[in-house]
Amino acid sequence: MRAQDLLLVTLRQPPAEAEIPSHQWLVRGGFIRRVASGVYAYMPLMWRVLRKVEAIVREEMDAIGALELRLPALQPAELWRRSGRWDTYTAGEGIMFSLTDRQGRELGLGPTHEEVITSLAADLIRSYRQLPVSLYQLQTKFRDEIRPRFGLMRGREFIMKDAYSFHADEEDLRRYYGCMDQAYRRIFARCGLEVLAVQADSGAIGGGTSQEFMAVADAGEDLVLSSADGRYAANQERAQSLPPPAAPLRVTADACFATPGQASIEAVCAAHNLDPTQTVKVLLHRACFADGPDQPVLTVIRGDQEVNTVKLANLLGRLLAERGNLLALERLDVDTLPAHGTQLPVGFLGPDLPDDVIQGVPGLGGGFLRIVDATAADLTGFVCGANVPDHHRRVPGWSLLGLSFTRADVRSAQPGDRCCHDPKAVLTATRGIEVGHIFQLGRKYSSALGACFNTEGGGTEPMWMGCYGIGVSRLAQASVEQNHDDNGMIWPVSIAPFEVVVTVANGEEQEQRQLAERLYGELRAAEVDVLLDDRLERAGVKFKDADLLGIPWRVVVGRNAARGGIELKTRSARDVLELDASQLLPQLLPRLQRQRRGSPPDAGV
Ligand code: ATP
Ligand code: MG
Repeated sequence: MRAQDLLLVTLRQPPAEAEIPSHQWLVRGGFIRRVASGVYAYMPLMWRVLRKVEAIVREEMDAIGALELRLPALQPAELWRRSGRWDTYTAGEGIMFSLTDRQGRELGLGPTHEEVITSLAADLIRSYRQLPVSLYQLQTKFRDEIRPRFGLMRGREFIMKDAYSFHADEEDLRRYYGCMDQAYRRIFARCGLEVLAVQADSGAIGGGTSQEFMAVADAGEDLVLSSADGRYAANQERAQSLPPPAAPLRVTADACFATPGQASIEAVCAAHNLDPTQTVKVLLHRACFADGPDQPVLTVIRGDQEVNTVKLANLLGRLLAERGNLLALERLDVDTLPAHGTQLPVGFLGPDLPDDVIQGVPGLGGGFLRIVDATAADLTGFVCGANVPDHHRRVPGWSLLGLSFTRADVRSAQPGDRCCHDPKAVLTATRGIEVGHIFQLGRKYSSALGACFNTEGGGTEPMWMGCYGIGVSRLAQASVEQNHDDNGMIWPVSIAPFEVVVTVANGEEQEQRQLAERLYGELRAAEVDVLLDDRLERAGVKFKDADLLGIPWRVVVGRNAARGGIELKTRSARDVLELDASQLLPQLLPRLQRQRRGSPPDAGV
């Protein structure tokens, strides 16, 4: 390819909406163009990168026996009703684009494909002899994200590789999940990404065990907590840890005391010489389920700890499974609560806040479901709000409150906490970009959609399923987020839009042009992905563009062309190799071959 045929339109300034470096560089380099919020055109340079990522993904999926297919993006609502996900995905904060066709039928644009693939499996797979089966596709997904941002990182239309596997038993599912895990590690290594595998929350996809792959980057939206010994790493959404021990508190009698204006834990502790671990705090939520009125929820946690709403939502989904899917979990807006003689004493709430305070609130049904986090439940004596403004209370024990609480882990693990597997180890925080996620789904979808098979023993059972996603377009941008400098992108060879750029320093010089042309031909004949920049621009402009585009190897044909001399260098290493042109291929090809198999970019010449 020649640079002048590339429709190269680069920008001097990053666009205002690009907040992170990878987004800025991709737009400045002309790799992507925004068409609408969260909707991008992949321009030819980006498309070359994406095709290389896709090729790596394909090779590794094929290598573990997965079969490629292509499922429709347009999916009937009926399938999603059968799995129970139509409402979760279209109502409230649901992210599925939905529409009604000219016959009045409801359809959705696929954000993911469990329903479609499971209904196909139900049709096609009858016998244990056909199992296991693994199917995958590379496809555009649609998600009406609440906050599309950071370019391809969180798009509303993006490329995903999704795979689904079907098994006769759980053991075989676990075995294949292990194969996927290894394949994913190879994919990310071959793409030159630094990735952490972490325990994950399964979210709206559901099922049991799941693991995310996080590209390490400060701009990542996820927080990973891990131990230095490498034995534990989890997304903060599901991470567990040991809370700091509580300072002992002897409470001899149940007693109220005045705390005027002390509506926060800090204020009460400061005024009464207490430690936050000696207090408990109360949070109110409204849980909206598919069936019935919203459930009021009262959660108690030790004063120094925070509630993890992902854990809380998962718990509520389990406890109230008969109410259908949990559609949303919102903080109970105290302004909507009727004042029963007094205002709701915000800042002074106690675990025994009476159900009266929510009687008659529109949309709410029943009394509080009361949850207590283990940190609070383990306290024998504690200080809490007295449910009266400007008053707190010393409570000698939970039994005194005469109420039943569900004990659970709803606490948010924090960096610095001690690890469960070894109390001497502490958790540290790393930010990550989720580039892949693998799940053991179990039989959730096969049961809902009737994907059953005849067992070897003559019975009929739902199949065991796994599902496995990679954000292909997000991965490509994550690579830039990990590899850039002040001059632009630095692509690893394995996914670079071009492996080598041959730059003619002075396009007016006949000898330079001829030598560059010859090398360009030789490199192409050796199947090197090469760009020839023989534009009649100043050398500085061409070097600047080459830096911006991040092509990993650069051959400069300049002043020494007359005697066959050239320069070889990598994108950003300072050392330059002066070569005779005849030495280019022998020097470059072995290095390229190694790097094509995957290595971090720019190891130097
Ligand atoms: P996130 O938590 O970032 O919203 P998710 O957990 O909803 O992602 P999955 O359903 O696990 O995503 O999808 C599989 C993969 O697809 C993710 O690991 C991620 O790499 C990619 N992906 C998900 N949403 C987007 C998006 N809006 N834009 C680009 N890639 C995405
Ligand atoms: Mg995920």
